[in-house]
Amino acid sequence: MNLHEYQAKEILNSFGVRIQRGKVAQNAQEAVDAAKELTTETGTSWFVVKAQVHAGGRGKGGGVKLAKSLEEVERISGEIIGMDLVTPQTSAEGKRVHQVLIAEDVYYPGETETDEFYVSVLLNRGTGRNMIMYSTEGGMDIETVAEETPHLIFTEEIDPAVGILPFQARRVAFNLGLSGNAFKEMTKFVTNLYTAYVKSDASLFEINPVLKTSDNNILAVDAKVTIDDNAMYRHKDYLALRDIREESAIEVEAGELGLNYVDLDGNVGCMVNGAGLAMATMDLIKQAGGEPANFLDVGGTADAARVEAAFKIILKDPNVKAILINIFGGIVRCDRVAQGVIDAYKNMGNINVPIIVRLQGTNADIAKELIDNSGLDVMSATQFQEAADKVQQVLA
Ligand code: GDP
Ligand code: MN
Repeated sequence: MNLHEYQAKEILNSFGVRIQRGKVAQNAQEAVDAAKELTTETGTSWFVVKAQVHAGGRGKGGGVKLAKSLEEVERISGEIIGMDLVTPQTSAEGKRVHQVLIAEDVYYPGETETDEFYVSVLLNRGTGRNMIMYSTEGGMDIETVAEETPHLIFTEEIDPAVGILPFQARRVAFNLGLSGNAFKEMTKFVTNLYTAYVKSDASLFEINPVLKTSDNNILAVDAKVTIDDNAMYRHKDYLALRDIREESAIEVEAGELGLNYVDLDGNVGCMVNGAGLAMATMDLIKQAGGEPANFLDVGGTADAARVEAAFKIILKDPNVKAILINIFGGIVRCDRVAQGVIDAYKNMGNINVPIIVRLQGTNADIAKELIDNSGLDVMSATQFQEAADKVQQVLA
């Protein structure tokens, strides 16, 4: 689950990581009220208005703007709320902005060189350890830094059983070229950031930029946090942080039906049991010259109701030109799946894309007979390659 910047910053703050302070607002009036409160609490008279959407690169898309008065806060918030923000990380249609974060301006005017760093904590799946990735090149997108100046990206591997050790935090501060109070502040920042990452069961904490202020404080200006969904049962309070407006509507609906579904751009719908087989099926479709329209794992119980639910989800995608059903009958018998497909097909009544069904495993032969004798416009296959060839045929 991804969080909004303002939510991520609240979590950081609760773990003692210094943040650029701010308040979220749903409309221009709330934005002005938020700015007034910020002035009382922090003394700031300049603000940044920041679009809250689950996408980075907001600054480049016009979703982060400086406001030098309450009038500007009101005007800019009014402009940003309701806009479809297009950034390098969104689709061409952009993302609708429902709320803004009104934050204190933490950059000093007239300063020619501001010290912006990049600091993230993430899981290194290769080594099975957590990793702090950091760079002197903050404020710009890290992919570009990785491409153009890879020597300016550093990593610090953390043994999850031991946790972050003081010398590691000091090495980060040292490599970032800090000294004096800023050095001390950075070691605290990194240590608390790591603790926040572990305690919240996150898979990513990315702070870009981390700012060194002119009075040598270190604070998080931006925050991108992904919480591991598998750990949500340990964080019931995080459930309220979910914002389904940010998620794909079709994926949300599939999730409610208990289907493991990811929307993709291609033209061949896939219905598969098991994530591994689903990936192999997507490869097969590509090899046959098609492009998968989705990833869909129907799970262990591929009965008529589930198959029908999966059909409905797949057919919501107007790009689907064919559907490939690839089910391995281990615990669930193939003949029952076949019957499920036939029943679902009859129930739906209006499926007008070709369907190729490959059932392999227990009672596969009976299943093939059922499909072949059903009188429906469904092609059966027993071999993987045969299924691929049939997909190619119907797309040609
Ligand atoms: P992103 O574009 O989605 O990554 O959003 P960020 O939160 O990183 O903000 C984008 C840029 O806005 C930052 O890199 C900063 O340069 C700038 N910015 C953020 N906060 C402030 C602020 O308080 N004052 C000023 N002047 N600029 C800011
Ligand atoms: Mn950023």
